[in-house]
Amino acid sequence: MTNEHSSNETSPESLELTDNDSVLEIVWEDSHKSRHRLDVLRAACPCAMCQGHSPSQSLNLKPEQFPGVKLSDLAPVGRYAYHIVWSDGHDTGIYTLKMLREMENSA
Ligand SMILES: [Zn+2]
Repeated sequence: MTNEHSSNETSPESLELTDNDSVLEIVWEDSHKSRHRLDVLRAACPCAMCQGHSPSQSLNLKPEQFPGVKLSDLAPVGRYAYHIVWSDGHDTGIYTLKMLREMENSA
């Protein structure tokens, strides 16, 4: 463990699934709390397959397309992101801390 910080962004203090495993709740080091519905997070998947390389290629995913989607796995990627594997088998999404922090609470 070191105290080295590569950026000024706050890190998650804790992550947990709440509301019957349908909401990812993140408490940040500065006590800010983010609550993201999993279907909303899934629809916001930032990977190239979902978002394309330009807006015209985006699949325009909507939360309604992912009823009951669950987290199969969540693993840190360095200090800046989480790799999320979804119960529908989609596993190419890398969610940056910045994105998770800046997304509006959906739950
Ligand atoms: Zn994706």
